[in-house]
Amino acid sequence: MRDIQMVDLVEQYRKYGPEIDSAIKSVLQSAAFIKGPEVARFEEELQRYMGCKHVISCANGTDALQIAMMALGMKPGDEVITTNFTFIATVEVVALLGLKLVLVEPDPDTFNISVEAIKKAISPRTRAIVPVHLFGQCADMEQIMKLAKENNLHVVEDTAQATGSEYFFSDGSRKKAGTIGTIGTTSFFPSKNLGCNGDGGALFTDDAELAAMIRSISNHGMKERYHYDHIGINSRLDTIQAAILLVKLKYLDRFNEARRKAADTYDEAFKTCPHITIPARNKASVHIFHQYTIRVKNGKRDELRKFLASEGIPSMIYYPGPLHMQKAYRDLGYSEDDFPVTSMLCREVLSLPMHPEMEAEQLEHITGKVLKFFENV
Ligand SMILES: *Cc1c(COP(=O)(O)O)cnc(C)c1O
Repeated sequence: MRDIQMVDLVEQYRKYGPEIDSAIKSVLQSAAFIKGPEVARFEEELQRYMGCKHVISCANGTDALQIAMMALGMKPGDEVITTNFTFIATVEVVALLGLKLVLVEPDPDTFNISVEAIKKAISPRTRAIVPVHLFGQCADMEQIMKLAKENNLHVVEDTAQATGSEYFFSDGSRKKAGTIGTIGTTSFFPSKNLGCNGDGGALFTDDAELAAMIRSISNHGMKERYHYDHIGINSRLDTIQAAILLVKLKYLDRFNEARRKAADTYDEAFKTCPHITIPARNKASVHIFHQYTIRVKNGKRDELRKFLASEGIPSMIYYPGPLHMQKAYRDLGYSEDDFPVTSMLCREVLSLPMHPEMEAEQLEHITGKVLKFFENV
């Protein structure tokens, strides 16, 4: 059995290395490192895959979020509602742009932003809702879009953890995660479901005007060369990364299917264990398991984690500290017990190894050790 990793990029390279090597080599030979033809080709392929009208690539998923907020013309003091249970990037860009961060609770079962909590947080100054499709499944987009429409709000979907997931609407239609709101953003950080071999990101929209604005902002606010219409930033997808992503995009559905299979195996093993809550699956979404995250009851999470580590099984806590208590965000004025659901999740969640290269033997070893730990509890 191979060593167990949270994410096994070495094994992935072993499988797809020759294709990736030749993609990199062709960029090196063409020397078109910045905005080479692979960048436009990748945007086209991804647009076809996503089924949206415009894809604009950029340097990383954090920039994608920032560019989205800038393109929507939000002004300091405008309120942005997002979840308190996410990666820091989502809230960081809101703070950086001087927008007012309004944090709300997640749903304790799906870990995704609570629609009820959003409802309560909407004020006359709210301009946008930022749902994060956490751990690989969609937030309740039908309800979120309805709320946004009623209140005339933008929706920026943070799809960094859910590229390839889908959402099913009650009328039977379906859309890819990231193509439902005003703008969707994603990340190609190596460990994401669609990851490159460095940093990368992209934005999705169906609005041609917004797409042009996004393209301009991500390239110094330039439309025509050396004419600056807006204050922009420098955020480009590297050509070498685009070439690698052209290879990996072909396998994305296969990768996601393999993750789902591994999750099914975990579910099957844990579903009757009284100490573990398995991750709830939103029936309106295809879960592509960026993370497989269980909740461990009775304060045993950290002990389980230590035990697994001693057996050569890595695990991670996504996310350990509630964002509202982070030192950098003290001036938001929240107090410790403002978010009981988030705080509970921070104490109970544990993410187990999850990647497309998981072997049956590895899964059996992990589930066996987890269940063994609880035999003596
Ligand atoms: C990874 C991630 C990001 C940021 O992506 P980078 O490419 O690392 O900047 C943003 N939001 C979420 C939810 C993420 O998981």
